[in-house]
Amino acid sequence: MNPTPPIEEAYTLAALAPVPSASATQNACKLCAPLGASLVFKGIAGGVPLLHGSQGCSTYIRRYLISHFKEPMDIACSNFAEQTAVFGGGANLQLALENVCRQYDPALIGVATTCLSETIGDDVPMFIKTFLAATPGEPHPPIVHVSTPSYQGSHMEGFHRAVRATLGALAKGRAGAAPEQVNLLPGLLSPADLRHLKEMAAAFGLQAMVLPDYSDTLDGGQWESYQRIPAGGTPVAAIAAAGNAAATIELGHTLAAAGDTAATDLHTRCGVPALRLGLPVGIRHTDVLLQALADISGRPVPAAFQAQRGRLLDTLVDGHKHVNTVRAAVFGEEDLVAGLAAFMAEIGIHPVVCASGGASRHLAQVLHQLVPARQHAGMKILEGADFATIEEAVAAAQPDLIVGHSKGYAMARRLGIPLVRVGFPIHDRMGGPRLRHIGYEGATILFDRMANALIETRQAASPVGYTYM
Ligand code: SF4
Repeated sequence: MNPTPPIEEAYTLAALAPVPSASATQNACKLCAPLGASLVFKGIAGGVPLLHGSQGCSTYIRRYLISHFKEPMDIACSNFAEQTAVFGGGANLQLALENVCRQYDPALIGVATTCLSETIGDDVPMFIKTFLAATPGEPHPPIVHVSTPSYQGSHMEGFHRAVRATLGALAKGRAGAAPEQVNLLPGLLSPADLRHLKEMAAAFGLQAMVLPDYSDTLDGGQWESYQRIPAGGTPVAAIAAAGNAAATIELGHTLAAAGDTAATDLHTRCGVPALRLGLPVGIRHTDVLLQALADISGRPVPAAFQAQRGRLLDTLVDGHKHVNTVRAAVFGEEDLVAGLAAFMAEIGIHPVVCASGGASRHLAQVLHQLVPARQHAGMKILEGADFATIEEAVAAAQPDLIVGHSKGYAMARRLGIPLVRVGFPIHDRMGGPRLRHIGYEGATILFDRMANALIETRQAASPVGYTYM
């Protein structure tokens, strides 16, 4: 019989259960919720985002957005201090609203909460009512409130909630029919993508209410003098008239899989038909979007798009040998990951790792629908993942290519795998706002960039080098 060990031995370090390799998120693959909401409010003409919380939150978000968009980024804040965290932020928000009205003369104020104001349970709608009641007769811009606790979601939840809250606050009903108007809810696209989306709608003779539209406000020209609110953005009056539109097109595969969105809400309240499509990345989903615009407008797809489609197909034939059977990892926000995986499947790339920090719980289901079975065998899908988990999966899969935003650079560098930068944020390269992802032209550009990254890697690894293919 073994003698009973002394009780002290049970309390030695060696006797303790091993420490898990990670007990917290390590380098999140998502950003904070009010950041997404701020982006939406920056895309409304005369809009000013106002964060209800600590100054550090607005500073972080400003810094983050500036490094991608390379534009001035005014985001107001109610500036919590220690006593605000104890007694509530009502007085701070009143003062902040007064200041923003006086200093910016905004067309709309978007109030997004932060983790702290949500944790202490501030009643923001009541604070806004009190502010409006305290100044009766004074003209105030619409004030839109969106609840954005970051511990409950990513920047994409904040983004979609802000779109929905803005439409909910401004588009009150159906006051008439505007058969030439279409509401476009594009999700988080680049300013260049937004410009292309507007061109697409205009080519069908449609007036597009794009929400948000930061194609000018966050990617504008040079100024003679500083503008507190950059020109551009979706006019408040156009958002208010969204209930009259012929249809709403909402983009995003995982968003479409979710039950309740801004488009469905507008449909319920105003009867506007909701078309919930995937991001138009690649041929198939661009075809679908253009067909939807053709159906809404009653006009055929313009010849210019047929020509773009032809050039894309020609490019794919020319470069197929460079990408066929290549294995890739893709990460980022869920709808972009889904769109890119669908495009990769079209061009013969196997998306072996598909990862996102978002946790809508729709990504896996959507990917299994988008990627044909022969290409998704063994595909590793990570939802709600951090970069430690993603890197582990990518290291195990050893893909030829990584496709994602700048936060994946350290991983790509450590693993020695080329990174094709897409989406948001792009901190370590120029041109983030001008990246193209959607439409036939976006697909052509993406294809060239992926093929060239592969060629460059093979060229660098070649013992003799080559300059002609
Ligand atoms: S505290 Fe919350 S809201 Fe503020 S920056 Fe951090 S995650 Fe974002």
